[in-house]
Amino acid sequence: MAIPLQSRLPEVGTTIFTVMSALANAHEAVNLSQGFPDFDCSSRLKELVTHHMKAGHNQYAPMPGVPALREQLVRKFEQQHGHAYDSEKEVTVTAGATQAIFTAILALVHPGDEVIIIEPAYDCYAPAIHMAGGKVIRVPLDIRGRDMDTSLIAAALTEQTRLIIINSPHNPTGVCFSESSMQSLERLLADTDVMVLSDEVYEHIVFDDKVHYGLAKYPGLRERGVVVSSFGKTYHNTGWKLGYCFAPEDLMTEFRKVHQFNVFSVNRPMQHAFSDLLAEERSYDDLSAFYQEKRDFFCRAVAGSRFDFTASEGTYFQLLDYGSIAQEPD
Ligand code: PMP
Repeated sequence: MAIPLQSRLPEVGTTIFTVMSALANAHEAVNLSQGFPDFDCSSRLKELVTHHMKAGHNQYAPMPGVPALREQLVRKFEQQHGHAYDSEKEVTVTAGATQAIFTAILALVHPGDEVIIIEPAYDCYAPAIHMAGGKVIRVPLDIRGRDMDTSLIAAALTEQTRLIIINSPHNPTGVCFSESSMQSLERLLADTDVMVLSDEVYEHIVFDDKVHYGLAKYPGLRERGVVVSSFGKTYHNTGWKLGYCFAPEDLMTEFRKVHQFNVFSVNRPMQHAFSDLLAEERSYDDLSAFYQEKRDFFCRAVAGSRFDFTASEGTYFQLLDYGSIAQEPD
């Protein structure tokens, strides 16, 4: 007898990444569909992980993360954005950015709340909002202006709006939100109790003269914001699933209430290894140059084709417009 199941996510099937990767394997095609780096991670980092496993760091880490790593993350973040979060109370190490995003949404969104996402949006936001009982409100990215459009966000705000999810550098368009749009979001939310979740996993992959304007730079956004990032994108090890998030103490307290029952704590030897590596490394500029060379190579190769495109400003994605080839919906 089949058990009658009621799906938590009736609209959701297998993710497009799994479908496309299987098709690419079956047809021996180059797999351009799933965003992950296929470069080896640093041998120093591997040495450090091995060292910490052999040194016996193989039991549960503290719930919010290894203290030395949290201190290094706070130091790195302050150097980058000019704001020092409290390493005890305002940073948590997570099982990748995905878990941080899921946990933040579960902690902050209540049934009936509205959550604004900017479309096209990374695929884990909407299902997490649904599972929290929230309602997804979709606002399009200004693709021609290559920015978020805060006038559309303003028009979407209601009494029920609880959270806005932003993502810059943006997956999949490679757009970096401008300083003026971040300032305009800050002004827009000043007299509201709307929170902001800022997915900044591509913070260190920014091209040409573009700058990554992180949420924490803006006091009015920082006080209502959770900033999420991931080691996977910066250190070529998406398979290690290690990420982290920053938030003011009141938000982080709620985040940790969910985090402790979601995973409790995450991979300990790798946390020690990253803590050592962050203490040794001080600059991330090489990563942008590394990817920019590849972006330029790819764009030169596609330039003669029927795809239309604007070169990506950040991330390791390059969006192509197939409008002159087919009219199929995406
Ligand atoms: N946010 C965005 C925008 C991403 O592209 C990804 C990974 N593709 C994630 C979050 C998830 O990061 P992680 O692998 O650390 O869970």
